[in-house]
Amino acid sequence: MTREERRAALDAIADEIRVCERCRLAQGRTQAVPGEGDPDTEVVFVGEGPGQQEDRHGRPFVGPAGGLLEGLLGSVGWKRQEVFITNVVKCRPPGNRDPEPDEIAACQPFLRRQLEVLDPALVVTLGRFSLQAFMPGERISRSHGTERTVDPASGARAAKAYALYHPAAALRQASLKVTMQRDMAGVPDALLRSRAARDAWGGVVAETPVVGTGREADRADLASLVPEASTSTDDAAGGDDQMGLF
Ligand code: URA
Repeated sequence: MTREERRAALDAIADEIRVCERCRLAQGRTQAVPGEGDPDTEVVFVGEGPGQQEDRHGRPFVGPAGGLLEGLLGSVGWKRQEVFITNVVKCRPPGNRDPEPDEIAACQPFLRRQLEVLDPALVVTLGRFSLQAFMPGERISRSHGTERTVDPASGARAAKAYALYHPAAALRQASLKVTMQRDMAGVPDALLRSRAARDAWGGVVAETPVVGTGREADRADLASLVPEASTSTDDAAGGDDQMGLF
């Protein structure tokens, strides 16, 4: 597929998502949040579901957790527009509650189709719901900072998944800040390993990669990236008051 064909295919999926009524989340949404990024990227970040800010703007990770995600990307020399960012569910669960299994199942074909189009080398999972989609049965506390080969049935036909905590978790629990930075520092090497595996599998390896290896980047100090841990549960204050992120 050319870049233009990928872009058109992703836009067509996004149009379907915006009018989707496959589950009850459609009733409460302001806007669906299909996801966004570079159609030629090798790296897809998958979060849990839109929060308040994302529901308002129709874009993923634009609230406080998004600020942290952008900081973490910057720490390995990447920009958000160089990767693709989406979620397991595309509509905001009311009050930022956990998505229900039937809601995740209803939305799953959209994520699968996005991954089929993007054909990423690396899927970075953010939080436990995304982890379950790509590393079923794993616990985030054990598997963060590690990778597994992805089941092609997920839509990512030749990819590894690499697990991160959800950025909102680090905003809530100060001790996770350093863990997240350490885990993020491992993402570029996971991409290199996945590239090598794709080569061996006979898959397509990007000739002009959209993202670098991160090795050239000055690794930023996470203290400068992460706001002080919030103790607020007020949605209006943060918009990412999501449960079950650990
Ligand atoms: N949390 C998520 O899981 N996804 C978003 O898009 C924003 C916050």
